[in-house]
Amino acid sequence: MNPLLDFSALPRFDRIKPEHVAPAMDELLAAGRRAVEASLEAPATWNDFVAPLEDANERLSRAWGQVAHLHAVMDRPSLREAYNAALPKVSQYWTELGQNLQLFQKYRELHRSAEFQALTPARKRIVENALRDFRLGGAELPLEKKQRYADVQEELARLSAKFSENILDATNAFSLLIEEEGRLSGIPADVLQAAREAAQKDEKQTDGKPKWKFTLHMPSYLPVLQYADDRSLRAALYRESATRASEFGRPEWDNTPLIARIVELRREIASLLGYANYAEVSLTPKMAQSPAQVLAFLDDLARHARPFAEKDADELRTFARQELKLETLEAWDVPYASEKLRSKRYAFSDQEVKQYFPEDAVLQGLFRVAQALYQIDIVPAAAPVWHEDVRFFEIRDGSGPVIGHFYIDLYARETKRGGAWMDDAITRRRKGAEIQTPVAYLNTNFSRPLGSPAGGKPALFTHDEVLTLFHEFGHGLHHLLTRVEDLGVSGINGVEWDAVELPSQFMENFAWEWDVLRGMTRHVDTGLPIPRSLYERMLAAKNFQSGLAMLRQIEFAVFDMRLHADFDPAGGRSARDLLEEVRGRIAVLRPPAFNRFANSFSHIFAGGYAAGYYSYKWAEVLSADAYSVFEEMSESQGVLDPRAGQRFREEILAVGGSRPAAESFRAFRGREPRVEALLRHNGMIGA
Ligand SMILES: [Zn+2]
Repeated sequence: MNPLLDFSALPRFDRIKPEHVAPAMDELLAAGRRAVEASLEAPATWNDFVAPLEDANERLSRAWGQVAHLHAVMDRPSLREAYNAALPKVSQYWTELGQNLQLFQKYRELHRSAEFQALTPARKRIVENALRDFRLGGAELPLEKKQRYADVQEELARLSAKFSENILDATNAFSLLIEEEGRLSGIPADVLQAAREAAQKDEKQTDGKPKWKFTLHMPSYLPVLQYADDRSLRAALYRESATRASEFGRPEWDNTPLIARIVELRREIASLLGYANYAEVSLTPKMAQSPAQVLAFLDDLARHARPFAEKDADELRTFARQELKLETLEAWDVPYASEKLRSKRYAFSDQEVKQYFPEDAVLQGLFRVAQALYQIDIVPAAAPVWHEDVRFFEIRDGSGPVIGHFYIDLYARETKRGGAWMDDAITRRRKGAEIQTPVAYLNTNFSRPLGSPAGGKPALFTHDEVLTLFHEFGHGLHHLLTRVEDLGVSGINGVEWDAVELPSQFMENFAWEWDVLRGMTRHVDTGLPIPRSLYERMLAAKNFQSGLAMLRQIEFAVFDMRLHADFDPAGGRSARDLLEEVRGRIAVLRPPAFNRFANSFSHIFAGGYAAGYYSYKWAEVLSADAYSVFEEMSESQGVLDPRAGQRFREEILAVGGSRPAAESFRAFRGREPRVEALLRHNGMIGA
């Protein structure tokens, strides 16, 4: 049996091969089309019409989800080929479905029927979302426009896939082999050891001389930028990273023409659907109301952040001039000078902190937080996996039944795309008398353990990486702790994009609490927990350069919103011109002219964040404000208060997309969201 067609249990990662993709997808697409036809003959009721359609589409999404997941974490030529061959067929199917006027009519019929009033709120919302998505999917378009809409969507899907492949290819194509030990000064020992091992792995015939290989992957790139005393080494890596997938590299990996084309096609989508611009299309299913509201929100935050960012930049320039003899502060000096200033001011380094965060202690600590807050139990379990590094766990409700599972794939490798993300493998839903429990993938790009597999040291994580892990785990809990029984609004399904980061950013807060860190840290050599004095310095350093960091996020968000709201690629200006204009207005530290940030901005060109990057800040306001409930509790109970945790679980995590996020927030917080907690957490308001 084709393992992609086996829905009886967990994905069969031990058996899936690239040659399974085409036949499985062909069969599921055909079955999907048959289900659509049958549903059109059925009465317009939930059980006769919606449910069978959901069943067919779920199988398709599950199988394709596994293929897309493997494409993201185990990329290799044969799989990439199979993925790219099936991709247009799959997007074609969803486009057809979204444009099927008869289906649309049927949903409208159900919406008008007496039965609709008797549906659960979750089901009502699924029907309403379907109507909205039909309109956004072009269902109301006349025939010739419908065809054009489908062609545009298909081209967009292809361009997005190519956009991220270009970044990965350009990232992998570059490496720098250093032979002079003198150039390595400042770089931490574990990073050097990894660079040494990487060089040895490459060199079949060795001339006996030690060599060090550096790449643009984060675990190699970032420490060089932060620590290498050799300015030309930093500059070389910075330039390569900042010009990835641009006209400075191989023409076939240049994302510049893709950006122009993607923006142009999105404008066309907006005009086909009768919207003024693509940003309005993007905001229709979101919590925010209009591009103007979002830009005003970002402007307001920028106004608060600017004085702090200017102070950050001035301090850094002065420090670099006086202490590091850097007369000009170049982009490749910023991480280096920042790290020096930070370690001088707070007298610790990421490397020092890292020694207290071995992998097992971090995972156990994270699990303890979730267990205490939500009264769940997390234990290792067995499952077929796609790589030997992957770990698998089950979640029990208290000491009760298993309510979900998740995979964790922690380490960076050449076949995995960059960044960190959570994805759903299986979604919770009722199937007759049974409940199908949810399964999630958690993926990060952390450094792997050094040395040979046996007897080496455990992987050590920076505190930033720990925050990333808490973040992704928050997404995972949103997916896994849902109580919703209908696919379309279960877990993170149907949650507004700009509210979806609430649980993830919320979870990060706990990785800053002494009660949590005390229990989750264990020095890799001495076994001791992190000393209180080091923790105090970390906390003091937390808002180091928070003004610069916030303005940087706002710069990306404003660029994204304006690119999709009022930018015309045929108007004689390029996306890069727009980015320069936005930087001119917002950035305090201007990147060099050769910087091609947009060419690797996959969030908006290859991810789902088009006219949605502001969501991070938007949701941060929600998450900080939600967390302030736990801070208020901490006076008496400590932040791991199970009563507040239960309420967060019930009002936010469990309800998923079954009601508007604004309503869930009010139910938990008892009022509308306020920005004060976020500003306070960033040191921008009197404590
Ligand atoms: Zn996230």
